[in-house]
Amino acid sequence: MKSEIIAVGSEMLTPFRQDTNSLYVTEKLNEIGVAVAFKTIVGDRQKDLVNAIRAALARIDILILMGGLGPTEDDLTREAVAEALSLILRRDAQLVAALHTRAAHWRLPMPSNNLKQADVLHGAAVLPNPNGSAPGQWLDTTFAAHRKLILLLPGPPSECRPLFDAECLPRLRAIVPPRSIAKRTLRAAMIPESQADKLLAPIYTTFSDVETTILAHAGDIQLTLLCSKSSAAAARRRVDELAGRLEEALEDWLYSSEGESLEQIVLYYLGLRQATLAVAESCTGGMIAQRITSVPGSSRSFLGGAVVYSDALKTAFADVPPQLIAQHGAVSAEVAQALATGIRLRTGATLGLGVTGIAGPTGATEEKPVGLVHIALSDATKTESVEKIFRGDRNRVREWTTQQALDLLRRRLR
Ligand code: ATP
Ligand code: MG
Repeated sequence: MKSEIIAVGSEMLTPFRQDTNSLYVTEKLNEIGVAVAFKTIVGDRQKDLVNAIRAALARIDILILMGGLGPTEDDLTREAVAEALSLILRRDAQLVAALHTRAAHWRLPMPSNNLKQADVLHGAAVLPNPNGSAPGQWLDTTFAAHRKLILLLPGPPSECRPLFDAECLPRLRAIVPPRSIAKRTLRAAMIPESQADKLLAPIYTTFSDVETTILAHAGDIQLTLLCSKSSAAAARRRVDELAGRLEEALEDWLYSSEGESLEQIVLYYLGLRQATLAVAESCTGGMIAQRITSVPGSSRSFLGGAVVYSDALKTAFADVPPQLIAQHGAVSAEVAQALATGIRLRTGATLGLGVTGIAGPTGATEEKPVGLVHIALSDATKTESVEKIFRGDRNRVREWTTQQALDLLRRRLR
């Protein structure tokens, strides 16, 4: 079965707001084997909405509308569905009473336009909304001689999502032919994008029954494999088979076979080796520490560190000799290594990580371009460093540097 989501609201056609409800609902739909074939965003204009609804009903089986169920002038979803399907809206006495009770409870005024939230499409079931005033609606109907399910959900995420889970999912499960979905997520770090595609595409394209999505961001690629079959074992088998082939191709770029983040994996290894970590960050300004500490329980292995932006603090907090900075410059392999060793010895950590670079857009010199970074890792036996030049704007350089630093750690700890 195919579905379409229509997010209703002019604010989502501005640069300031995004439709996020549909991401949530899409994930839940996919889990029961319903694909989302179209997503539409429509402003608060009844005529546009009616057109969008008719277009959707002509091409899909399940239409999910979210937003525009409130009491205000620009909340038009009920009216638009009624117009698109030539249905009557009836005012539900029980809902009117509930709106009065709610207003009295919160000591709110009850202007007459509030009552339109009690309007129900002819033939629709009312879906209670414990988190807001406008209920959802579930309409099982026909359009151009085909069965169509039309769901109306409130826009605020705190209302839309619980209502979808509690009222819509169970009803959909009862209608949609049972499918079992198997899902796996593989993750790899620092593999060049062109190489990833060359390695992986010839493999996953031969698995036409497994849907493979690839997300790439700042040195991280995430492959999600999704297979829907009538038997759970069959779906699992196909996903595992493809995952195995992709894992082999990814070699040691692969860091996770079950979707864990790179920082989770690094912390896992640190725990396994009973090792501790401290960081001295210049151009990343704390981003490495931020990613590591975002994982619950990171305090078992992560001691902390310092943001050492100025030359003076590189010396004061990580014991980098001033002459070393004078001789090689702050952005150099020597200083990165001194940061890594310095912070390790200062804190008593097993491992020290030091990062220095030119995030840009200014600060480049003849020999040192924007994007040049040095990342060093030190333990009691050795200190190694890598030099990279990352393309892109300041934030991109910082994100790639952070990823490279975590990957250097992973490779050392593996
Ligand atoms: P209300 O009773 O609050 O008016 P409503 O059903 O009319 O509910 P909207 O007015 O369309 O909902 O949206 C209310 C708020 O919910 C919007 O300001 C917006 O911030 C948020 N919202 C609406 N739709 C979405 C969406 N698809 N994704 C994320 N947020 C949304
Ligand atoms: Mg509204």
